[in-house]
Amino acid sequence: MVVRTYKFRLYPNEKQQKKLLQNFRICKEVYNSLLAESRKLWTTRRFDFNLLVKDMKITCPKYYSRAYSQVLQNVSDRLTKSFMNFFRRIKEKKSGKKLKVGFPRFKSRIISITYPQSGFRIIKGNRLYASKIGNLPVKLHRVMKGKIKTMTLKRNNANQWFAYFTCETEKKKTKHCFKKYVGIDVGIESFAVFSNGELIDNPKHLFKSEQKLKKFQRKLSRKKKKSNNRKIARIKVARQYNNIVNQRQDFLHKLSNKITKSYSFIAVENLTITNMVKNHCFAKHINDASWGTFIQMLSYKAVACGGQLVKVNPRGTTTNCSNCGSKQEMPLSTRIYDCPNCGLVLHRDVNSARNIFDYSRAGQARTYTPVDRFAHAFPFSRKVSKLEEAGTTRDEPSKATDAGSHAL
Ligand SMILES: [Zn+2]
Repeated sequence: MVVRTYKFRLYPNEKQQKKLLQNFRICKEVYNSLLAESRKLWTTRRFDFNLLVKDMKITCPKYYSRAYSQVLQNVSDRLTKSFMNFFRRIKEKKSGKKLKVGFPRFKSRIISITYPQSGFRIIKGNRLYASKIGNLPVKLHRVMKGKIKTMTLKRNNANQWFAYFTCETEKKKTKHCFKKYVGIDVGIESFAVFSNGELIDNPKHLFKSEQKLKKFQRKLSRKKKKSNNRKIARIKVARQYNNIVNQRQDFLHKLSNKITKSYSFIAVENLTITNMVKNHCFAKHINDASWGTFIQMLSYKAVACGGQLVKVNPRGTTTNCSNCGSKQEMPLSTRIYDCPNCGLVLHRDVNSARNIFDYSRAGQARTYTPVDRFAHAFPFSRKVSKLEEAGTTRDEPSKATDAGSHAL
């Protein structure tokens, strides 16, 4: 079984928005009063939140009937979950793990409500009926596959409304019908560089959007605290920020789709936050975040396509020669790898991408490949001045060396 979530934009009118916000408020109150109740009882570990919800409804039936009953039950499920996590953390602490146990906290707001199985349906393809809210205009921009399980209504920080549907589908088994291999290096100058020399640039429109965001942020900082103008400016910033995130996401989805569909074996750096330079620059921050997301997308899409993704320890990928394995200092300003040992001249990121690929094939253990290993694929193994010639493919390394060692 595969669970997929689909997200659709909603356009509720003012009356519906009021109802939605009121639902959020009711859920918050239910959550907090359940938590207050459980604070007295939690040591016994015997409490039935669902029963407590029923009791609450009896005390003030008119008020609580404004929310759908299962939505309120879902609130109790959420609290149960946070208690389960709390108990799990206690257990982990006892077994010696260093962490804060953290008792579940009171909420100052709840920003989404969930219909766990019923109380909603799609009408005529452009309306979403949600019990106790009404018929919400919805933009169904794609077809959902599988059986719809739950629906969540949510408002983001830019005051836009969304519906999330989780769907269950059968897992399809697929296999790549061809064997193509690639190593990928992610960088600052280009977004990604392939071991065959292909460069993927950062999308240009993103830079424009970032400039626009900076402008909005400057405007926001000049607004008086707690003023109405500040509120409006804050929403503008949030919208622009979301735009950037969406544009990034779109770019990453398309790129990872393309890669996983055309390569059956993909090697990437094993990025960890610790070996990424901590930088407060905003554009850099987005970049860092998107590398992680990119690799995540690659890994699940590769599996879905029947391919394979291998993560490689990035140590030495930039400093070592991808041809002879000798090492030299590579400061960031040096854009071209010029090997004094074997005479390889290559774009620095292409060199890293090739190393990443090599390490993945060698089980991360460094193996020095003979100079003539790629001789037929790379005519430049002796000194070549033109960088363009570095773009030769090496999609099928199994032909370059003995086929047996590359069987996947
Ligand atoms: Zn070399």
